[in-house]
Amino acid sequence: MNTALTKLKTQLAKIEDLKHVSALLMWDQATYLPQGGSEARARQISLVAGLLQQKQTSHELGKLIDDVTPLISQLAPEASDAALIRVAREDFDRETRLPATFTQRLYSHLSRSYDLWVKARPKGDFKAVQASLAHTLELSREYSEFFPGYVHPADPHIDLNDPGMTVAQIQPLFAALRTELVPLAQAIAKKPKPKSGFLNKKYPEAEQLAFGLQVAQDIGYDLTRGRQDKTHHPFMIKFSLGDVRITTRVNPNDLGDAFFSTIHEAGHALYEQGLDPTFEGSPLGHGVSAGIHESQSRLWENLVARSKPFWKHYLPKLKKRFPAQLKGISLDDFYRAINRVQPSLIRVDADEVTYNLHVMLRFDLELQMLTGKLAIKDLPDAWNERYKQDLGIAPPSARDGVMQDMHWFTGMIGGVFQGYTLGNIYSAQCFAAALKTHPKIPEQIAKGQFETLRKWLGKNIHQYGRRLTPQDIIQKSTGKPLSITDYMNYLRKKYRAIYALV
Ligand code: ZN
Repeated sequence: MNTALTKLKTQLAKIEDLKHVSALLMWDQATYLPQGGSEARARQISLVAGLLQQKQTSHELGKLIDDVTPLISQLAPEASDAALIRVAREDFDRETRLPATFTQRLYSHLSRSYDLWVKARPKGDFKAVQASLAHTLELSREYSEFFPGYVHPADPHIDLNDPGMTVAQIQPLFAALRTELVPLAQAIAKKPKPKSGFLNKKYPEAEQLAFGLQVAQDIGYDLTRGRQDKTHHPFMIKFSLGDVRITTRVNPNDLGDAFFSTIHEAGHALYEQGLDPTFEGSPLGHGVSAGIHESQSRLWENLVARSKPFWKHYLPKLKKRFPAQLKGISLDDFYRAINRVQPSLIRVDADEVTYNLHVMLRFDLELQMLTGKLAIKDLPDAWNERYKQDLGIAPPSARDGVMQDMHWFTGMIGGVFQGYTLGNIYSAQCFAAALKTHPKIPEQIAKGQFETLRKWLGKNIHQYGRRLTPQDIIQKSTGKPLSITDYMNYLRKKYRAIYALV
């Protein structure tokens, strides 16, 4: 093998290890870290981020990438090594634009920002986080300035998470989706609501956790390469291809909360556990984009775990765990209850029809903040105003408004939310393509068999990691570029049946 390429791979593997060390510090912060450890942890996260940046931007790494670049012409365009060189170059070019001092300031600020949010959120005390959030916005704008030539200041942020996408591409797509979703949501609002009170009886935590983890394993989440812990806001995180973890939270008065978030995070974990095993220690060994990642979680959470065939198999098992709470509940009652459409305040709890309204609203607010049209002090009012417009309701306090989840308190402003709606769109497009090849998938789901679907996803999406671009993966796996057609067909068919719409 080419010596320079071997040296490059060794360097990149060290970078991957440092990224995972950093991830481990963050996982611990979000699960088990006692409050007394938070100051030191902020310092430690910042130190590792600094070391990581030194490695990612070193002269030595740049020289190695230059040395191997001529090899690309000798390799097949889809060869892993060609993709590795391309990805290493892209990452190096992006990282070398950011001064080390900026990254250190950012990480250390975000760690403190997270602690402030954890303390202030229960009281909905926006004043307590306002100055910190204003600083996050300043840092987010500063980030954009390191990528001159952008059309919109959100573009460099979007490119970081959904490579190849821009505000100019996303805005028309979201506008088309909104035009379709609003009449659907309004037509549903005129219909009687399915009964769903039984989902809010008392469901003991241990049984909820056990059921969710069992189903996660049934769909293919491998616990010899993963584990589940509790947190405030569920997430999936990876420390190596052999250690892909999920976290969840349990609400004893809401059967759906822990279950659907567990399946959601397990969907993310299946993606990472399904990567080509030769990508260990390689920058190719990650999900390719936020949108594609989210498509995998939403596919399992919604297209599978909110489908009738799925509950044909699992409702009897659930009833065994909670016989009193679910006494007399039919499959149809249960299916309609878990798919109840109702405007709500919390994005992660939202139904499939209104979910994207939460996302598009935040996407728009971020664009306004980044261009300076919206100041942080005015954010809660702007938020409430837009909720009234789009969903007809507004939160009584910032707790369930701008402070509802950790996104704006652990990361920059911009570049994240588009991924959720892109994910929904991709999820339906992937599922439709899988059904075209394997029309028996719903029958298999009704028997608790998920292998055909998981293998299709593994072969067409998961294995590639970053070897192909998101655009190439979607084109190759579904035979067409990103489009809202399959997603809207799925939503219309499902909700017309549930709500007897004409
Ligand atoms: Zn997700």
